[in-house]
Amino acid sequence: MNLLIIGAPGAGKGTMSDLLINNFHLVHVSTGDMLRAAVKAGTPVGLKAQEYMNKGALVPDEVIHDIIVERLSQDDVNDGFLFDGYPRTLNQAEDLDAILKQIGKKIDRVINLDIEDEELIKRITGRRLCPTCGEIFNIYYKAPAKEGVCDKCGADLIQRKDDNLESLTVRLEEYHKNTQPVIEYYEAADIVSHINAKQGVNEVFEDIKAALEGLC
Ligand code: AMP
Repeated sequence: MNLLIIGAPGAGKGTMSDLLINNFHLVHVSTGDMLRAAVKAGTPVGLKAQEYMNKGALVPDEVIHDIIVERLSQDDVNDGFLFDGYPRTLNQAEDLDAILKQIGKKIDRVINLDIEDEELIKRITGRRLCPTCGEIFNIYYKAPAKEGVCDKCGADLIQRKDDNLESLTVRLEEYHKNTQPVIEYYEAADIVSHINAKQGVNEVFEDIKAALEGLC
Protein backbone atom coordinates (compact mmCIF):
# COMPACT_ATOMS: atom_id res chain seq x y z
CA MET A 1 0.00 0.00 0.00
CA ASN A 2 1.41 3.40 -1.02
CA LEU A 3 0.09 6.45 0.81
CA LEU A 4 0.46 10.21 0.94
CA ILE A 5 -0.24 12.23 4.04
CA ILE A 6 -1.03 15.91 3.48
CA GLY A 7 -1.59 18.59 6.10
CA ALA A 8 -0.47 22.07 7.07
CA PRO A 9 2.52 22.44 9.41
CA GLY A 10 1.36 21.25 12.83
CA ALA A 11 -1.64 19.25 11.56
CA GLY A 12 -0.11 16.09 13.03
CA LYS A 13 1.60 14.57 9.99
CA GLY A 14 4.58 13.41 12.07
CA THR A 15 2.47 11.73 14.76
CA MET A 16 0.13 10.07 12.27
CA SER A 17 3.06 9.00 10.09
CA ASP A 18 4.66 7.21 13.06
CA LEU A 19 1.42 5.37 13.80
CA LEU A 20 0.90 4.47 10.14
CA ILE A 21 4.40 3.15 9.53
CA ASN A 22 4.32 1.05 12.71
CA ASN A 23 0.83 -0.35 12.17
CA PHE A 24 1.06 -0.96 8.44
CA HIS A 25 4.82 -1.56 8.08
CA LEU A 26 5.37 1.19 5.57
CA VAL A 27 8.59 3.01 4.78
CA HIS A 28 8.39 6.65 5.88
CA VAL A 29 9.60 9.11 3.28
CA SER A 30 9.57 12.65 4.67
CA THR A 31 11.12 15.28 2.41
CA GLY A 32 11.36 17.65 5.41
CA ASP A 33 13.41 15.07 7.38
CA MET A 34 15.56 14.29 4.34
CA LEU A 35 16.24 17.98 3.75
CA ARG A 36 17.08 18.63 7.42
CA ALA A 37 19.50 15.69 7.35
CA ALA A 38 21.10 17.10 4.18
CA VAL A 39 21.44 20.55 5.79
CA LYS A 40 23.03 19.00 8.89
CA ALA A 41 25.45 16.96 6.78
CA GLY A 42 26.28 19.99 4.64
CA THR A 43 25.66 18.14 1.35
CA PRO A 44 25.13 20.10 -1.92
CA VAL A 45 21.35 19.53 -1.60
CA GLY A 46 21.49 20.78 2.00
CA LEU A 47 23.37 23.91 1.02
CA LYS A 48 20.81 24.69 -1.68
CA ALA A 49 17.82 23.96 0.59
CA GLN A 50 18.96 25.77 3.72
CA GLU A 51 18.12 29.37 2.76
CA TYR A 52 14.60 28.44 1.62
CA MET A 53 13.91 26.35 4.72
CA ASN A 54 15.02 29.03 7.16
CA LYS A 55 12.58 31.47 5.56
CA GLY A 56 9.80 28.86 5.55
CA ALA A 57 9.73 28.94 1.73
CA LEU A 58 9.44 25.86 -0.45
CA VAL A 59 12.64 24.32 -1.74
CA PRO A 60 12.70 24.37 -5.60
CA ASP A 61 10.95 21.46 -7.31
CA GLU A 62 14.15 20.31 -9.12
CA VAL A 63 15.91 19.74 -5.80
CA ILE A 64 12.92 17.76 -4.51
CA HIS A 65 12.69 15.74 -7.75
CA ASP A 66 16.27 14.56 -7.35
CA ILE A 67 15.93 13.44 -3.74
CA ILE A 68 12.67 11.59 -4.50
CA VAL A 69 14.09 9.73 -7.51
CA GLU A 70 17.09 8.73 -5.41
CA ARG A 71 14.87 7.58 -2.51
CA LEU A 72 12.54 5.56 -4.75
CA SER A 73 15.53 3.73 -6.23
CA GLN A 74 16.10 2.04 -2.87
CA ASP A 75 14.60 -1.45 -2.45
CA ASP A 76 12.85 -0.86 0.87
CA VAL A 77 10.05 1.15 -0.81
CA ASN A 78 8.81 -1.96 -2.62
CA ASP A 79 6.75 -3.15 0.35
CA GLY A 80 4.82 0.10 0.57
CA PHE A 81 5.63 3.67 1.48
CA LEU A 82 4.17 6.74 3.12
CA PHE A 83 5.12 10.11 1.65
CA ASP A 84 4.97 12.86 4.24
CA GLY A 85 5.26 16.52 3.21
CA TYR A 86 5.48 15.62 -0.47
CA PRO A 87 4.12 16.45 -3.04
CA ARG A 88 3.63 20.05 -1.93
CA THR A 89 2.98 21.65 -5.34
CA LEU A 90 0.90 20.65 -8.36
CA ASN A 91 4.12 20.38 -10.31
CA GLN A 92 5.53 17.92 -7.75
CA ALA A 93 2.29 15.87 -7.88
CA GLU A 94 2.44 15.60 -11.66
CA ASP A 95 6.14 14.82 -11.50
CA LEU A 96 5.52 12.10 -8.90
CA ASP A 97 2.91 10.44 -11.13
CA ALA A 98 5.45 10.34 -13.97
CA ILE A 99 8.19 8.94 -11.69
CA LEU A 100 5.87 6.28 -10.24
CA LYS A 101 4.57 5.30 -13.69
CA GLN A 102 8.14 4.62 -14.80
CA ILE A 103 8.72 2.21 -11.94
CA GLY A 104 5.25 0.58 -12.11
CA LYS A 105 3.86 1.99 -8.87
CA LYS A 106 0.91 4.19 -7.90
CA ILE A 107 -0.53 6.08 -4.93
CA ASP A 108 -3.40 4.12 -3.35
CA ARG A 109 -4.76 6.78 -0.99
CA VAL A 110 -4.17 10.38 0.06
CA ILE A 111 -4.86 11.27 3.68
CA ASN A 112 -5.67 14.96 4.08
CA LEU A 113 -5.44 16.20 7.67
CA ASP A 114 -7.96 19.08 7.93
CA ILE A 115 -7.48 21.75 10.61
CA GLU A 116 -7.80 25.54 10.88
CA ASP A 117 -4.82 27.93 11.02
CA GLU A 118 -5.48 29.36 14.55
CA GLU A 119 -5.01 25.90 16.07
CA LEU A 120 -1.85 25.32 14.04
CA ILE A 121 -0.22 28.53 15.28
CA LYS A 122 -0.47 27.31 18.90
CA ARG A 123 0.74 23.84 18.00
CA ILE A 124 3.76 25.08 16.05
CA THR A 125 5.03 28.07 17.98
CA GLY A 126 4.67 26.03 21.20
CA ARG A 127 6.58 23.02 19.86
CA ARG A 128 9.87 22.06 21.56
CA LEU A 129 12.00 19.09 20.53
CA CYS A 130 14.56 17.00 22.31
CA PRO A 131 17.64 16.80 20.06
CA THR A 132 18.88 13.71 21.92
CA CYS A 133 15.93 11.30 22.21
CA GLY A 134 13.48 12.90 19.76
CA GLU A 135 10.67 13.46 22.31
CA ILE A 136 8.30 16.28 21.28
CA PHE A 137 6.77 18.72 23.78
CA ASN A 138 4.43 21.71 23.50
CA ILE A 139 4.48 24.58 25.98
CA TYR A 140 0.67 24.96 25.65
CA TYR A 141 -0.46 21.33 25.53
CA LYS A 142 2.34 19.07 26.79
CA ALA A 143 4.85 21.16 28.74
CA PRO A 144 7.96 19.46 30.15
CA ALA A 145 8.04 19.25 33.97
CA LYS A 146 11.04 21.60 33.99
CA GLU A 147 11.02 24.42 31.43
CA GLY A 148 13.39 23.76 28.53
CA VAL A 149 14.47 20.31 29.74
CA CYS A 150 13.48 16.90 28.30
CA ASP A 151 11.46 14.78 30.79
CA LYS A 152 12.74 11.59 29.24
CA CYS A 153 16.50 12.11 28.99
CA GLY A 154 17.30 15.47 30.63
CA ALA A 155 18.72 17.12 27.48
CA ASP A 156 18.08 20.82 26.74
CA LEU A 157 15.06 21.22 24.45
CA ILE A 158 15.32 23.13 21.20
CA GLN A 159 12.89 24.95 18.94
CA ARG A 160 13.08 24.20 15.23
CA LYS A 161 14.48 27.23 13.38
CA ASP A 162 11.33 27.54 11.27
CA ASP A 163 8.87 27.14 14.18
CA ASN A 164 8.53 30.90 14.82
CA LEU A 165 5.43 32.96 13.98
CA GLU A 166 7.05 34.85 11.12
CA SER A 167 8.24 31.73 9.37
CA LEU A 168 4.98 29.87 10.15
CA THR A 169 2.91 32.61 8.53
CA VAL A 170 4.94 32.18 5.33
CA ARG A 171 4.65 28.39 5.57
CA LEU A 172 0.86 28.57 6.01
CA GLU A 173 0.52 30.93 3.05
CA GLU A 174 2.72 28.62 0.96
CA TYR A 175 0.65 25.68 2.13
CA HIS A 176 -2.71 27.15 1.18
CA LYS A 177 -1.46 28.51 -2.13
CA ASN A 178 0.46 25.44 -3.29
CA THR A 179 -1.03 22.44 -1.58
CA GLN A 180 -4.73 23.11 -2.18
CA PRO A 181 -4.25 22.41 -5.92
CA VAL A 182 -2.47 19.17 -4.95
CA ILE A 183 -5.51 18.05 -2.94
CA GLU A 184 -7.79 18.95 -5.86
CA TYR A 185 -5.51 16.99 -8.22
CA TYR A 186 -5.93 13.82 -6.14
CA GLU A 187 -9.63 14.53 -5.58
CA ALA A 188 -10.07 14.34 -9.33
CA ALA A 189 -8.63 10.81 -9.10
CA ASP A 190 -11.06 10.08 -6.23
CA ILE A 191 -8.40 8.85 -3.81
CA VAL A 192 -8.54 11.53 -1.04
CA SER A 193 -9.79 10.87 2.50
CA HIS A 194 -10.44 14.10 4.44
CA ILE A 195 -9.75 13.56 8.14
CA ASN A 196 -10.73 15.94 10.97
CA ALA A 197 -7.30 16.57 12.54
CA LYS A 198 -8.57 18.70 15.43
CA GLN A 199 -9.54 15.56 17.37
CA GLY A 200 -7.31 13.65 19.80
CA VAL A 201 -4.53 11.46 18.42
CA ASN A 202 -6.49 8.20 18.86
CA GLU A 203 -9.62 9.52 17.17
CA VAL A 204 -7.66 10.87 14.21
CA PHE A 205 -5.87 7.56 13.78
CA GLU A 206 -9.14 5.57 14.03
CA ASP A 207 -10.59 7.73 11.23
CA ILE A 208 -7.50 7.12 9.12
CA LYS A 209 -7.67 3.36 9.67
CA ALA A 210 -11.34 3.40 8.64
CA ALA A 211 -10.38 5.29 5.47
CA LEU A 212 -7.76 2.64 4.62
CA GLU A 213 -10.10 -0.33 5.07
CA GLY A 214 -9.98 -2.65 2.12
CA LEU A 215 -6.59 -1.41 0.94
CA CYS A 216 -4.41 -3.76 2.96
P1 AMP B 1 8.35 19.90 6.89
O1 AMP B 1 9.18 19.24 7.92
O2 AMP B 1 7.62 18.91 6.01
O3 AMP B 1 7.43 20.95 7.47
O4 AMP B 1 9.36 20.68 5.90
C1 AMP B 1 10.20 21.67 6.40
C2 AMP B 1 10.65 22.58 5.25
O5 AMP B 1 11.36 21.79 4.28
C3 AMP B 1 9.54 23.26 4.47
O6 AMP B 1 9.13 24.47 5.09
C4 AMP B 1 10.23 23.50 3.13
O7 AMP B 1 11.14 24.59 3.22
C5 AMP B 1 11.05 22.22 2.96
N1 AMP B 1 10.31 21.15 2.27
C6 AMP B 1 9.94 19.93 2.78
N2 AMP B 1 9.30 19.20 1.88
C7 AMP B 1 9.24 19.95 0.74
C8 AMP B 1 8.68 19.76 -0.55
N3 AMP B 1 8.03 18.62 -0.89
N4 AMP B 1 8.82 20.75 -1.46
C9 AMP B 1 9.47 21.90 -1.16
N5 AMP B 1 10.02 22.16 0.04
C10 AMP B 1 9.91 21.20 1.00
